[in-house]
Amino acid sequence: MSQDKRIKNFKDLIKEVHDKGICQLCGGCVSFCSSADYRIIDFIKPDLPPQFVNEKECLECGICYHICPQTKVLENNLNNQYNYIKPLGNYKEIYSFQALDKDLLKNGTDGGVVSAILLYLLEHNLIDGAIVSKRLGPFSRDSMIAKSKNDLILAAGSHFDISSQVTEIANFSTYSPTIMALNRYKFKKLAVIGTPCQIYTIRCMQEMGVTPSQNIKYLLGLFCYGNFTMGKDKKEKFETQFNLKIEEIEKLNIKEDMLIKLKGSEIIQHISFSELSDYIRSACNACNDFTNIYADISFGGLSSPEKYTTTIPRTKLGTNIVKSAINEGYIKVLEDLEGKRDKMLEKLIQFSKYKEDRYNLSQKNLGVKF
Ligand SMILES: Cc1cc2nc3c(=O)[nH]c(=O)nc-3n(C[C@H](O)[C@H](O)[C@H](O)COP(=O)(O)OP(=O)(O)OC[C@H]3O[C@@H](n4cnc5c(N)ncnc54)[C@H](O)[C@@H]3O)c2cc1C
Ligand code: SF4
Ligand code: SF4
Ligand code: SF4
Repeated sequence: MSQDKRIKNFKDLIKEVHDKGICQLCGGCVSFCSSADYRIIDFIKPDLPPQFVNEKECLECGICYHICPQTKVLENNLNNQYNYIKPLGNYKEIYSFQALDKDLLKNGTDGGVVSAILLYLLEHNLIDGAIVSKRLGPFSRDSMIAKSKNDLILAAGSHFDISSQVTEIANFSTYSPTIMALNRYKFKKLAVIGTPCQIYTIRCMQEMGVTPSQNIKYLLGLFCYGNFTMGKDKKEKFETQFNLKIEEIEKLNIKEDMLIKLKGSEIIQHISFSELSDYIRSACNACNDFTNIYADISFGGLSSPEKYTTTIPRTKLGTNIVKSAINEGYIKVLEDLEGKRDKMLEKLIQFSKYKEDRYNLSQKNLGVKF
């Protein structure tokens, strides 16, 4: 039987990923296209997959296809390299930490621990900068490079001021294609914060030795059950369904469900993921990593008390940073963590399984087999 020896490329991504509605918009293919200088492919419309801009310059090298989190070509390699064990990936310990810096704690989404660890890396010259995501409004963020504590405060958390930008944005989304920023900044030692789909594509790029992966020294991963996107119609539906105005949201967080605090109110409104199914990006249903299994350290709010961050060091690098950040007074551990670990573990496994089940269902519905 003759086998197709052709290297799959962007045309195959269009057919196998975009046309099936499962492009996660991670930005990997655009950022790491080997002809990126010629702008072969790019995002043209918000919340739609990237498209050919200059198709005739495409080298058909296949890098975009190989690093896409939806083709999973390199998944087995990564699983071996990062010692993947079901369902939470490789870890030795699970912690609940809080930032010791008052400003980072106050502005942090949960315990401000991601920012505290970035501050440790910056102040010890272990990185020149970090690609983070600046908040513009409750459903709107943009990538930025953080080089100082002030930058980290600007990017941390999910508190919002009344922002005129919010009302001007046609599409509202909690997703931020941060790794696209890799093309804009030239750094030697970089940390990147990302969702599991983003960390996957960067790890693939490192696996393949594609530039500028050698400059990405630390990968800090966020837990992610899903991202939410809505155009004008959905926004109005959301506001009616949950009896609120998006512009009035002061704080938005995602843990076990979506937590919303409106300006001038002390009440936290909880909206379950099942009530949000209409607003979740369809590609997120075709994603099975909840705890960011290939990151150096993973972070989330789930299973920790208010103002603490669940933290899972995974690689040796990640474990060493966490130890140093504790020893040097950047973060502190939750009191009585030992007594709480079993319950934390239970919750993390439960949500990882929910996501795996949702993924299996979506694969069944799609009939996808790469
Ligand atoms: C889209 C999204 C979905 C999430 N889903 C869950 C969930 O289902 N369950 C759960 O327990 N936790 C989830 N988290 C993680 C949680 O909201 C916190 O980010 C995490 O607990 C770290 O809190 P912290 O206070 O330590 O971080 P902080 O100190 O506040 O720092 C957070 C860092 O994340 C960066 N960031 C924020 N948004 C984005 C983005 N869209 N893309 C890339 N970087 C970003 C910020 O720039 C900042 O540097 C999600 C986060 C995001 C961004
Ligand atoms: S040049 Fe290579 S990476 Fe870029 S679009 Fe073509 S096949 Fe993909
Ligand atoms: S999931 Fe990411 S890498 Fe795959 S096609 Fe979409 S943007 Fe490109
Ligand atoms: S669920 Fe999160 S990690 Fe998965 S595709 Fe959506 S945004 Fe990416």
